[in-house]
Amino acid sequence: MPEDRLITDSLIEKPLVAYFSMEIGLDPGMPTYAGGLGVLAGDTIRTAADIRLPLVAVTLLYRSGHFFQRLDANGMQSEESVKWIVEDFLEPLDARARIEIEGRTVQIRAWRYLLTGQSGFQVPVYFLDTDLAENSEWDRTLTGALYGGDQYYRLCQEVLLGIGGVRMLRALGYQQIGRFHLNEGHAALLVMGLLEEERGAQGAERPVTAETVDAVRPRCIFTTHTPVPAGHDQFPSDMAHRVLGDQYWSWLRLCGQDQVLNMTGLALRCSRYINGVAMKHGELSQSMYPGYPVHSITNGVHATTWAAHSFKALFDRHLPDWRRDPLTLRYAVGITGSEIWEAHLEAKRRLIELINHETNEGFDVNVLTIGFARRAATYKRMTLLFHDLERLKAIANQVGRIQLVFAGKAHPHDYESKEIIQRVHQIHEVLRGHIPMVYLPNYDMVLAKVLCSGVDVWLNTPLPPHEASGTSGMKAAMNGVPSLSVLDGWWIEGHVEGVTGWSIGDRVEACLEPTEGMDACHAAALYDKLEQNVVPCFYKDRDRFIEIMRHTIAINGSFFNTHRMVAQYMNDAYSVVDSYFGKVIQHE
Ligand SMILES: *Cc1c(COP(=O)(O)O)cnc(C)c1O
Repeated sequence: MPEDRLITDSLIEKPLVAYFSMEIGLDPGMPTYAGGLGVLAGDTIRTAADIRLPLVAVTLLYRSGHFFQRLDANGMQSEESVKWIVEDFLEPLDARARIEIEGRTVQIRAWRYLLTGQSGFQVPVYFLDTDLAENSEWDRTLTGALYGGDQYYRLCQEVLLGIGGVRMLRALGYQQIGRFHLNEGHAALLVMGLLEEERGAQGAERPVTAETVDAVRPRCIFTTHTPVPAGHDQFPSDMAHRVLGDQYWSWLRLCGQDQVLNMTGLALRCSRYINGVAMKHGELSQSMYPGYPVHSITNGVHATTWAAHSFKALFDRHLPDWRRDPLTLRYAVGITGSEIWEAHLEAKRRLIELINHETNEGFDVNVLTIGFARRAATYKRMTLLFHDLERLKAIANQVGRIQLVFAGKAHPHDYESKEIIQRVHQIHEVLRGHIPMVYLPNYDMVLAKVLCSGVDVWLNTPLPPHEASGTSGMKAAMNGVPSLSVLDGWWIEGHVEGVTGWSIGDRVEACLEPTEGMDACHAAALYDKLEQNVVPCFYKDRDRFIEIMRHTIAINGSFFNTHRMVAQYMNDAYSVVDSYFGKVIQHE
């Protein structure tokens, strides 16, 4: 047996990492994700399978799938839960675990999804499910909806994910797991599950103390994704005490939770390695949590998932190793411009055909196409491009034609974001005759791929510092599509002016005072860039535009991928080598 087999086989018995995430985007047909966090989790797991990293993942099963978006004639969003046949994707397992919620016992079962990597290695993903006849009607709905219900429902789901997840892994036979990765604070209660085991290991009824917490910490890794305190999960102490019971509540107090249960606080207190998801986000998190060392590991995207068909073929021809090692995309500098443009046109035609088929807006493949698609959260500023409609029209009429494609869902309870979608929708009428524009409904992974690869320029206008990382611009980069973006999140690292795309605002500090003037300032900078750089470059200097596309692949595609990201997690966060040889080191 080759040595390689021996090592991986023994590690499957003893998986290195258990990855916990409230949402995971595995298959476009499985509506178990809402947005960036879930897609990142999916890309992480796809990479683990490709590189044969022994990892198991845990999440919840959402029977009422995260939602199908309809837009009426006025652009008003309505939601339907996505119906899906669980059995078509997942295999039910016999193992059972249980948790206590407010003193009630809730039975849990698990469903398994086996994700197969490029070389045949499989990573199991376990979906926890409480929809069992033994459970009360209410408890059965616990695995109903992602981010649905009230705070109480959410807390119960987090008890299920964290404590239920640890217990289920044990019930499935995973006795030795070296690392527990908390993908966002939602999973922080897994620490309670580990404390419980630690107590058991020390001889039944030894009290849990600060030393017990210290014994658990070397196994936990926490990745925070939220750059503003308001984004963190918090629960009132009386609710947390009631739901979790006296014992867990006393342990939580030991972990610094008192007035409220703050999932980020709990995760910080109990993790050996803490990181933000881009350089600046790590620094920002460090200033928010001065008592803990916070590192940065910048997000990425899974290269073969996000490269369009035509780019896969192009890379296969020139960089035959790119699927196994996306770092070789660095050598895209040697691909001719005409081949890159041909591959791009194929992806672009696909998008234009989709748009014309769905909307009859008469999009033209020769016209500069700008894309914007993301969750319609306020901070993403979906309407920034429309700050001064006369100026925008003037650019299109005098400098060069443009056409715009938008997409994105608003959270069902987020009425402000729904209004933003309506406003974007209405601008369509105002621009009629000047700038063709569409808002495509039901943004999901499938549409994201067509959009990110099919537009000429990917637009991003977040209000700094709210974009922790952002990943859709990386998906675009994987297809040679440059970004035009505010300098926030990953773009601070990916941006080289006129080489990998363009900034909105020249310096990071520009426009940074948080005043009402910021929108106006960023909008003016956006129009300037379109007028003086992007539009003229596209129409009058096509060779240079293609040069930018080439650098986008070589500089950004080669780096902002999950193969690089997971390698960093292995080296810096999991300390793979130490773990394999049974050593545990404290990371400072
Ligand atoms: C990639 C992706 C996102 C995240 O994009 P951001 O740029 O981080 O906002 C959200 N939703 C879907 C469907 C995606 O594919």
